[in-house]
Amino acid sequence: EVNWHGKRVTVAGLGVSGIPAARVLHGLGAVVTVVNEVDDERARAQGAELAQLGVTVRLGDGATLPEGTELVVTAPGWRPDKPLFAAAEAAGVEIWGDVELAWRLRKPGSAPWLAVTGTNGKTTTVRMLASILEAAGLRTAAVGNIGVSLLDAVTGDEPYDVLAVELSSYQLHWAPSVRAHSAAVLNLAPDHLDWHGSMAGYTADKGRIYEGNTVACVYNAADPATEELVRAADVEEGCRAIGFTLGTPGPSQLGVVDGILVDRAFVENRRDSAQELAQVSDVDPPAPHNVANALAAAALARAFGVPATAVRDGLRAFRPDPHRIERVAEVAGVTYIDDSKATNTHAAQASLTAYEPIVWIAGGLAKGASFDELVGAAAGRLRGVVLLGADRALIAEALTRHAPEVPVVDLDRTDTGAMSAAVREAARLAEPGDTVLMAPACASMDMFVNYNKRGEAFADAVHALAAEHA
Ligand code: ADP
Repeated sequence: EVNWHGKRVTVAGLGVSGIPAARVLHGLGAVVTVVNEVDDERARAQGAELAQLGVTVRLGDGATLPEGTELVVTAPGWRPDKPLFAAAEAAGVEIWGDVELAWRLRKPGSAPWLAVTGTNGKTTTVRMLASILEAAGLRTAAVGNIGVSLLDAVTGDEPYDVLAVELSSYQLHWAPSVRAHSAAVLNLAPDHLDWHGSMAGYTADKGRIYEGNTVACVYNAADPATEELVRAADVEEGCRAIGFTLGTPGPSQLGVVDGILVDRAFVENRRDSAQELAQVSDVDPPAPHNVANALAAAALARAFGVPATAVRDGLRAFRPDPHRIERVAEVAGVTYIDDSKATNTHAAQASLTAYEPIVWIAGGLAKGASFDELVGAAAGRLRGVVLLGADRALIAEALTRHAPEVPVVDLDRTDTGAMSAAVREAARLAEPGDTVLMAPACASMDMFVNYNKRGEAFADAVHALAAEHA
């Protein structure tokens, strides 16, 4: 139990997590200072609102630790190698992320967490899980990147039976004491390595999600690194390792048999060796990576005691979010697909294996990734490639190495208008029956506010092209 009254807390970063954290802590009686690196119009407006409450706001300096700080609460995106954290550690001051704060401030008896992490598929899986829990009549919410904020969900008046919680590797890094009821790691591929310092650091941060689990640690049987994380975790006695696989499941696994999702881990009738959950065709879209997401969601729901019928009903009620392998239009016999959410190579791999032949639009911020594996695997399916964005040269080099015969148009542009030029170039390269796939394998922030805006720019350009052909 923390006595917040008069406690000096430094909140690092204005923004989606910093502002509510500052408000809540101030409301508890803490003496709050918000530090923010950026000092622009938006920060000043946000800072002014907090200042009115009595929060101290320091803009343009995120490096120095304010005098007398007793606790730092950081936005998850702040890199651990920042000087502010070194100063805090030197002073023996604890550092919590937004998730740690939510965990510590949760109301007594508040709902248990079913947690999901992984390089790709988190949001989708958490939303599928919430849909399943709802179908079982439970009061729940999908929290994390989307919808309700975690802090609101655990401190608000809305009563929940269980929460479906998405946790990023950043959030897990700063959340040492979080203990989920059950958790899943969907997959592990290199991403955000610039932030975590190394693949080992990234993996270790993801593995924290299993610490202290009470009922089930759900792993991907096709991704042995996830199973290793389960073995390395310190869990409560009786907590089980539950695998999911796109093949025939072993004991303590969920999998697929003849187009049916089956559960061999949580059978309802002791005489049965497997429980049928749903059809593959109940999953939208029924692509392999998404069936894997559905199995992980089902495993967590089953660990919470949800019946098989609710898994089926919840999956049937689920619809995917925009910009995730979304079909935009067909123009002159060519299909245009928006996978703007493919912000890393692992995600792009899922959509690049789903079509053929492909005119691929790619590029953006690479975040320290290598493109050799992705390009090598996709080479045979590529009709052509259009490159844009800050780190496009890395992709161009990988193409030279692994797909030298594929025509590449390097737009050499990083302005927002480049997406419409890219669509035009792609249309020129494509032949009827082809798919133009915008799956950048990179983050969007070099050109757009976020991946939503990038996807919208793509869709606008495709619609403009369609209008010309109408
Ligand atoms: P996250 O929340 O982890 O970013 P999303 O569900 O938003 O995940 O999906 C991100 C991207 O990854 C999308 O491009 C999607 O098509 C792709 N994707 C979704 N699930 C998987 C998976 N299990 N494996 C690989 N790629 C996936």
